[in-house]
Amino acid sequence: MPAATVPAPAPLLLTPGPLSTSPGVREAMLHDWGSWDSDFKQLTVDMRAAVVGIAGSAERHTCVPVQGSGTFAVEAAVGTLLPRDGKLLVLVNGWYGTRMAQLTRQMGRACDTYEVEETEPHDPKELARRLATDPAITHVGAIPVETSTGILNPVDDLAATVAQAGRRLIVDGMSSFGIVPNGLDTLPAQAVIASSNKCLQGPPGMGFMVASTADLEAAADRSPSLSLDLADQWRHMERTGQWRFTPPTHVVAGFCQALREYRAEGGQEARLARYRENCRILCEGMDELGFRRLLPDDRQAPVIVTFHTPSDGCYSFSAFYTALKRRGFIIYPGKTTRRDTFRIGCIGHLFADDMHRLLAAVAESVDELGVRTRTP
Ligand SMILES: *Cc1c(COP(=O)(O)O)cnc(C)c1O
Repeated sequence: MPAATVPAPAPLLLTPGPLSTSPGVREAMLHDWGSWDSDFKQLTVDMRAAVVGIAGSAERHTCVPVQGSGTFAVEAAVGTLLPRDGKLLVLVNGWYGTRMAQLTRQMGRACDTYEVEETEPHDPKELARRLATDPAITHVGAIPVETSTGILNPVDDLAATVAQAGRRLIVDGMSSFGIVPNGLDTLPAQAVIASSNKCLQGPPGMGFMVASTADLEAAADRSPSLSLDLADQWRHMERTGQWRFTPPTHVVAGFCQALREYRAEGGQEARLARYRENCRILCEGMDELGFRRLLPDDRQAPVIVTFHTPSDGCYSFSAFYTALKRRGFIIYPGKTTRRDTFRIGCIGHLFADDMHRLLAAVAESVDELGVRTRTP
């Protein structure tokens, strides 16, 4: 193989993940770790404790990491927590809810969905009605930030409804963990699932579940999968300090550094404030340039913003994407079902200056392409 050439400065990722990481996080990955070695075991211990510190209580809860992307962790959590004769009701208003239902059905577990428009939140009263009429439902799956549109789903009332009905709540907190306070310390939920590479700004490659040790003990031998059995991963980790199978060592090291930077920045409130400011600059700037957003302000999570595709014949996503990439920014296609859209993220190692530079690049790009009409 020829020697690798030094790549040009990486473009900034304005996406739902993987995200732009800090230089410190990237540097923490320049070291090889032995999975059996005590230094790496300590990294795993520190990482798990830091995650529980964000969204649980050290006495009752634990963090079980798992190799893979966020979906692996959702699949692992559902397979581990949902009894074989249990039934999951998923609150769907976007792609990730649909996926949670799909992975549940694919593992042979009973599953139903309560689906609403992708720009609408779920109604706690309707949820209560569905739980009352279907006693087979044991669990409810909810997604506080549905990343396919960027909608903020208020889960507090829904969580209270689930608890009142005596069912358990599983939260896919992938795009909210670390910025929206919806951990087990604030919500009556059984488990919260997230990954290393969203609002905690680590590298991609692992997910985790925060749940109570009591529930993990009760979940032994329930998972339909060997590698995704989180009760077994937890037991093994507690006993040996090791992951059951080859751990993503560099990801763990990078993630530990990301968790240190999260604390240094000021934790949940400070990170949320920075993302809110990024989001505000993005929304106002794009409004000024004539683009239209999918969601009203009060439903917009400061995570990723969906814009309608301009009706101008000069616009195509791929040309717009390429023009922005040449200027150092990577954006994302839309994931809406009925409307043509694109998305721009505001999470990751991104700051107000980056958002202003992005807006200048958007203005230049639409001028270059000759896109005059930016409304749908
Ligand atoms: C990113 C994300 C996931 C996981 O997606 P992966 O591509 O598997 O990492 C799951 N749910 C939500 C809400 C997400 O934002």
